[in-house]
Amino acid sequence: MAEPAAEQVIAGIPAAEGLVIGRIAREGGTHPGGHQAGHQVGRRAGSSAEERAALLAAVAQAKAELDALIAGEDELAAEILEFQQALLEDDDLLAPIFDAVQAGASAQGAWDQALDREIAEYRGGEDEYLSARAADLADLKGRVLRALAGEGDDGKAALAEGAILVAEDLTPSRFLELDWQRLGGGAIRGGSKTSHVAILARARGIPLIVGLEVELDRLAPDAPAVLDAEAGRLILAPSDGTLAQVQSRIQARAEGDAAAAEALAEDAVTAEGERVQVLINVDDPAILDGLSPAHCDGIGLTRTEFLFAGEEPPDEAAQLAVYRRILAWAGGKPVTIRTLDAGGDKPIPGVSREAEPNPFLGQRGLRLSLAHPEVFRVQLRALARAAAEGPLKVMLPMVTLPAELAQARRLLDEVLAELAAEGVAHGRPALGIMIEVPAAALTAGDFAADFYSIGSNDLVQYVMAAARDNPALAGLALADHPAVIELIQRSVAAARARGVEIGLCGDLASDPATVPLLLDCGLRSLSVAPAQLGRVKLALRGYRGKAAGP
Ligand code: PEP
Ligand code: MG
Repeated sequence: MAEPAAEQVIAGIPAAEGLVIGRIAREGGTHPGGHQAGHQVGRRAGSSAEERAALLAAVAQAKAELDALIAGEDELAAEILEFQQALLEDDDLLAPIFDAVQAGASAQGAWDQALDREIAEYRGGEDEYLSARAADLADLKGRVLRALAGEGDDGKAALAEGAILVAEDLTPSRFLELDWQRLGGGAIRGGSKTSHVAILARARGIPLIVGLEVELDRLAPDAPAVLDAEAGRLILAPSDGTLAQVQSRIQARAEGDAAAAEALAEDAVTAEGERVQVLINVDDPAILDGLSPAHCDGIGLTRTEFLFAGEEPPDEAAQLAVYRRILAWAGGKPVTIRTLDAGGDKPIPGVSREAEPNPFLGQRGLRLSLAHPEVFRVQLRALARAAAEGPLKVMLPMVTLPAELAQARRLLDEVLAELAAEGVAHGRPALGIMIEVPAAALTAGDFAADFYSIGSNDLVQYVMAAARDNPALAGLALADHPAVIELIQRSVAAARARGVEIGLCGDLASDPATVPLLLDCGLRSLSVAPAQLGRVKLALRGYRGKAAGP
């Protein structure tokens, strides 16, 4: 009798939490033609005029396919696809391709080469965000090539129920085409935690591992496997012992989910009955549609980078409309909106500096806003106008010196005076700072801030001198390192001495395991990922203050 295959563990990076027991399904192996960008197409080149017409038709078909996909998706997914649509209307991209066709190149060859060049440029840099956008370009490249070959969109591919999809990479539109009602989860060799496919998977609660360290040929279709997207592992031929252990973790996860869902509607109190403020972080207002303001104490961080995704910075009216919508959702609860935090891991075309040698130590956050007063003033005007309609707080990111806060306050004062002179309704928002830079944490008391919010994601990377987007340094991202704790405690003490509020809005607050530590540091206001609200409330319920220990 054949020996059962030995269990084999393949490492990866967890991108969207979850556990799946299932069988391997290979992307591209289950439907004709696969879905790899750049696959060969069988089409003969014609005259320049014919090639031009063929390319125009293929671009039009790709646009129509994207239209149809966008119509069935939510706002976040639609935005990703709209980026691809915008490329199909981008003259800078298209004109040289049509020129090459005019000069005798085939439509397929010209498109292929131009897109490969763009993709290589995006991938070439160190920047994780731009590399992630390369996947969008590859996606678009494949779509137009398929259209040129006369192939249609292959729609939702049928894959086995509960299967673990493995792939080199998944483009955003391919991810959206897949039937995740049937599939259990995915593991891909490409990607990163900040790639669009990871963002989409997290938003939909689909377990996903990226950076899988294996050649796909070694993964036999239909082989039994476990996707452990909590630890970032794909386990092939799992032993009975592993299966039993994973089963009980799945059970515990389900119980945890149910308990968290129940805790969601309850007050955020410790075991001793102390009320703690629990607010939410908003990266994209679309998320508010599925959330009840009754479950939180307001919004502790609104990242406004999403507003700046287009080619031009948004105008005052567009920003005002979004800020009003957020305030209306909160229904009188406090809303903190952070001014643009471009630069570092969040490049914004036309605002952040291109190819900065050391972006995390470069011109980012408030530094960049102060360098672009024409952009900053528009945001401050929109915020001041929104402040007429609710309790709005404005928060400045990446502040290092009290003089930077003073400069921002002067600009705010000027904007308020301007609005008053114009007779435009406005309010004076509270103006606070994020504590993300060790220098600001150590001198927090010197800032004339109306409030403080600790940005632990950045604070940890600056204290530990370990870039937050470098997976090789994951072992140094120690949020509970004594040096980090010391800075949090000092910041809390400085805020108390000045009699102003302090909270924490980094990912640390969303982790139930670190919540007690933050309370021990004296924090009583946490701003968390909406999906973690229930779990954080549960963690609070289990907390007894240090002094009350056994
Ligand atoms: C932080 O740095 O902790 C933070 C909340 O800001 P971001 O993650 O947007 O840099
Ligand atoms: Mg930050």
